[in-house]
Amino acid sequence: MKAVADGVMQPDESFRQQINLCLGCRACEPVCPSDVKYGQLLEQTKLVLFERPLRSARKKSDQSEASSRSGSKPESNRPPT
Ligand code: SF4
Repeated sequence: MKAVADGVMQPDESFRQQINLCLGCRACEPVCPSDVKYGQLLEQTKLVLFERPLRSARKKSDQSEASSRSGSKPESNRPPT
């Protein structure tokens, strides 16, 4: 999870499925003998898996929309020839 959250590893489908199965209840934290802050890792990992791709897709959509708008200026906005 840390490697994916840090961008060191690319998540595969199996990893995504495992993360999706986790409820995020954090019941595992208090019983972890190594005191792993699982919830923190989970939040960082979900951010990488689900939020960043959405932001990237939104950014591309905004750029596409802006370029299509600039390519279709109405005639009245053009300087007289
Ligand atoms: S947070 Fe821990 S106990 Fe809860 S579903 Fe996920 S792995 Fe299981």
